This record gives sequence, structure tokens and C-alpha cells, in this order.
Amino acid sequence: MKIIRDLAEMRALAETLKGQGKSIGMVPTMGALHEGHASLMAKARQENDILLVSVFVNPTQFGPDEDFDQYPRQLEADAALAEGQGADIVFAPADEAMYPEGFQTYVTPSPQMTNILCGVSRPIHFRGVCTVLTKFFSLIHPDRAYFGEKDIQQLAIVMRMVTDLNLHVEIVPCPIVREADGLAKSSRNVYMTPEERAAAPVLQASLQMAREMIAAGERNAVKIRQAMADKINATGLAKIDYLETLDFATFERRDEILDHTLIAMAVAFGKSRLLDNTLIRLN
Ligand code: AMP
Repeated sequence: MKIIRDLAEMRALAETLKGQGKSIGMVPTMGALHEGHASLMAKARQENDILLVSVFVNPTQFGPDEDFDQYPRQLEADAALAEGQGADIVFAPADEAMYPEGFQTYVTPSPQMTNILCGVSRPIHFRGVCTVLTKFFSLIHPDRAYFGEKDIQQLAIVMRMVTDLNLHVEIVPCPIVREADGLAKSSRNVYMTPEERAAAPVLQASLQMAREMIAAGERNAVKIRQAMADKINATGLAKIDYLETLDFATFERRDEILDHTLIAMAVAFGKSRLLDNTLIRLN
């Protein structure tokens, strides 16, 4: 497995591989890799000749008061995990290489997709995500790129971007990987105290309760959100950033449960801001 830091070297290698007729599956990550990332790599490994994992804590997707400096960085361990998943290449560029002096150009998704959910408290986040992915895709030209459904708004925005900008890459969604107690795996779980960590599975439990209410015939999303919020707040350790029901295709808020209603939340436990969601399929 090769670890590449240089952009020109990355471009040249990708061109050589594509010239040999090899397909490239890319898994973009910010490192601190865990089984959630590994599941994306496993799928990409199966579906492509070359598995490329990028490890880059992208500065442009962090706001000034966010955890860019504290975000865990552990390239050696990440490279070992990627190699264990059969990666051929780990691409870990330096910040200055990706954003040299004079950098001026960003890819900005429309407010319809960013003035809700994570975009409200993280106003520049998705612009940073779309910008770095466009840079990666134009440098590497992967055939497929793999994204987790945990970051469901990111997945929807990236799919939209690839369609809107005619990017020649297939976006492959991958299911959420969870701890044994139901907490979605996340590099940010390490910020929690033992008490917060013990309470955090309430997110998945509240989604399970919502699914049960819907299965029993409840269609009033206001009632469902209230019941979920009560359950989460009962821990005494949670601060709900958002808890929304929306149409998955349009990202418009919905107060009625219909087919393809997305229930999505961000909840802070101490320093960890955790995401979880479920897509309701009625048929
Ligand atoms: P990150 O390193 O947090 O930017 O995540 C990189 C990719 O891994 C994103 O597409 C995430 O959605 C995905 N991912 C992170 N955690 C999980 C998880 N628990 N299950 C599935 N995918 C995940």
C-alpha cells in the first residue's frame, strides 16, 4: 500500500491506473478511522480494482468555533486500518497543498439543501465539503465514491452536486455502522465522558420508538418529534441541536409522516455533537 501526500504524484498515479483500465473506488475520510469507515472500504474493495482512501481533516468545512484543532489525527493507525481493509493507496495531502496561498474558489450548494439540519449551526460546512470533494474528484477521477448514511445531509448534497455539475463519479451510499448498544460509530465519540457515552444510545432508541409509533399508525410528525425530544432530554445530559422530519428528496420540513420522510437529529453530549437518522419507508 502506498501513502501519497503530493498532489502531482496522486494525479500521475491515478492517470496511470486509469490508463491501465483499472477502476478506482474512493473513500473520502477525515481519518480517526473506525468500523464505520471500514465498512465503506469493504464495499469499495469489492466493487473496484483499486481502493483509495483519503485522509484529510478539511479546514474549510470547520467553522471558527468548531473542533478543527482538536480533531483526532493518527495517520499511522489510519494507514494500518486502511491496509487491513485491502487499500492500495492512502492519500493524505497537506493543508497547504490543498489550499495554497491565494486560494479563491469554492463550490457552494444551494440554500434549499443547507438552510436546514446541520447547515443551520454549520453555515460554511457543506461549502467546504463540496469544495474539497470537487478538488479530489478532479484530481483523481474515481469511478465510485463511498459515503455513509450517518451523514445523510452530506450524502444528499454530494449526490445533488455530482448531478448538477455533471461529475463523472458514481456516489455509493452505505448503511450506518453502530456500536453494540446502538450508538452510531463516530470519530467524535471519543470526546464523551463515560456518563455521556452511557446515555448516548438514546438517539438510536428514540429513532426506534419513532419507527414503532409509525408502525402503530401514528402519522403526526409533531407528536413523534415531541416524544423523541422528551426521551432524549430525560437523560439530563443531552442538548438537542435539531430534531427534524423532512422530505428526503426536497429537504422540505414535514409535519406529517409520508413515504420517504427522513427523521434526522444532531444532539450534543458534552463536547461530542452526534448525528443519527432514519428514513421512513411506508410501502
Ligand atoms: P468522516 O471521517 O467523519 O468525514 O467520515 C467519512 C465517511 O465515513 C463519511 O461518508 C461518513 O458518513 C462515513 N461514516 C462515518 N461514520 C460512519 C458510520 N458509523 N457508519 C457508516 N458510515 C460512516
